[in-house]
Amino acid sequence: MKVLKRISSRPQDMKFLDIPEPVIPRKDWIKVKVAYAGICGSDIKMFHKDCSEADSKLKPPVIPGHESSGIVWETGSEVYHVKAGDRVVCHTMADPCGCCEYCLTGNWGLCSKRKGIGSDINGAFAEYLICPAKNAIKIPDQLSLKTAALTEPLACSIRMIEEIGNIRRGETIVIFGPGPIGACCALAAKAAGAVPMMVGTEHSGHRMKILADLGIQCVTNDENLAYRVKEIFGDLADAAVDAVGSEKVFHQAFQVVRKLGRVIIGAADEVNKDYSVNMQKVFSRQIKILPACSSTPKGWHEAVNMLKQYQDEFEKILGKEYPLQMWRDAFQKAESREDFKIMLRP
Ligand SMILES: [Zn+2]
Ligand SMILES: [Zn+2]
Repeated sequence: MKVLKRISSRPQDMKFLDIPEPVIPRKDWIKVKVAYAGICGSDIKMFHKDCSEADSKLKPPVIPGHESSGIVWETGSEVYHVKAGDRVVCHTMADPCGCCEYCLTGNWGLCSKRKGIGSDINGAFAEYLICPAKNAIKIPDQLSLKTAALTEPLACSIRMIEEIGNIRRGETIVIFGPGPIGACCALAAKAAGAVPMMVGTEHSGHRMKILADLGIQCVTNDENLAYRVKEIFGDLADAAVDAVGSEKVFHQAFQVVRKLGRVIIGAADEVNKDYSVNMQKVFSRQIKILPACSSTPKGWHEAVNMLKQYQDEFEKILGKEYPLQMWRDAFQKAESREDFKIMLRP
């Protein structure tokens, strides 16, 4: 089968290869024919990164890709909830121990035993994906496979907006970064009855136009941002999301939230890892800093339901699709940030 494989830890050491089809390794695993595999911002970051550090998310040699949808091709003998032909999305947390505090509270992403599909073990930039059957979630007939490939980024956004951010009906929320995650956050906030505002640079005009057409207030980032927020919302915001992952945005997020507001950290800078914080201001204004990393199985189920219910809206943030062998063009396009979610078609 054709795959895109990260060969070594060396930056950009990725190749399009033909390798033998994988065999289901255990009775409770399945083999899925991948229909769509989205390119995540983290795939781009990892592509350029040296992955030799012990805390590197990507562990080469490995096939990346964690945002996929597909059709069950074959199942092990002890698989009962899905069968060949079912349309599925597979969440990315394989083999959590199932008995630690994190597993028992649904926070599989924090289990020290769990493996990430597309980071620790082979992912979806391939014709076939093998994974534990319990990771597979059947998708409704009405939901297209392409839109379903947004489940992972939407589940991460649901983590930020609902599970950690606790955004409630009528609340105002400023989202920094009109990329696919920021857009999913805005649509999830809207679905929750909150009022989102998107902040982006002039460079992201195309994306902002699409979001504006979806009824989301979009503003260009500048020095008067807090003033603009007050002008639009009538006050500072209840919450802000950093969906960019930069110290500059982190500080701006503080400037646009009211006292007792929440700053939700949806991404963190991979290079400049130490941010400086005016703790006196955080303390006196009683701002909550809420990191929301990865996703939960519960969030995946919610994401599938939300995609089904708001399919028309989410379809607007689907970008161009490329055959797997054109991965270089696809990565370049994703990096250009002109389009929304770029998909590979293995
Ligand atoms: Zn992702
Ligand atoms: Zn565990």
